[in-house]
Amino acid sequence: MGPVTSRNDAAIGEILVPADDLTCRVKELAAAISVDYQDRDLLLIGVLKGAVFFLSDLMRALTVPVEVDFMAISSYGSSTKSSGVVRILKDLDASIEGRDVVIVEDIVDSGLTLQYLLRNLAARQPASLEVCALLIKPGARKVDLEPRYVGFELPDQFVIGYGLDHGERYRNLPYVAGLNQ
Ligand code: 5GP
Repeated sequence: MGPVTSRNDAAIGEILVPADDLTCRVKELAAAISVDYQDRDLLLIGVLKGAVFFLSDLMRALTVPVEVDFMAISSYGSSTKSSGVVRILKDLDASIEGRDVVIVEDIVDSGLTLQYLLRNLAARQPASLEVCALLIKPGARKVDLEPRYVGFELPDQFVIGYGLDHGERYRNLPYVAGLNQ
């Protein structure tokens, strides 16, 4: 049996990042993080819900000791554009003071969500604070944001799959595809 979401679903557009490419790149990112965080106190912070899929693959490929915590945030505005106004729906379980934190994000579009998160988390005085984003769109250059680890650069288009939704659906697609609207 194939996945429940069929390729015949008209909303699923062109495959932009195939599953095999995701697997390879996630391993490369995990290898780089494992080198950089040897003998450190690594804490991954996942942003619910989209980053969960990437984070769980990334974390299993790390070869250094690591812990994980989650935040849930909501940005106001329409469903396919970020407003940059962010509300914390679920905060971290524990303090990050003195920890080596890597925020794991599914996608950076305008960068406004990440900019808010970075400011919010920096105020909690971690020992270090970096970003690992699976996908980045060109608009992210408008704000002064350079994630330390980036998986793939995408064109400026709404995408679904590998954690990314449209109206809460399509997160289970094993690849990243465009959305036909
Ligand atoms: P930003 O604040 O960088 O514009 O947007 C960040 C958030 O908007 C992401 O964490 C994600 O939840 C959502 N987002 C941005 N672009 C896309 C996209 O192409 N597809 C989906 N499904 N969500 C997106």
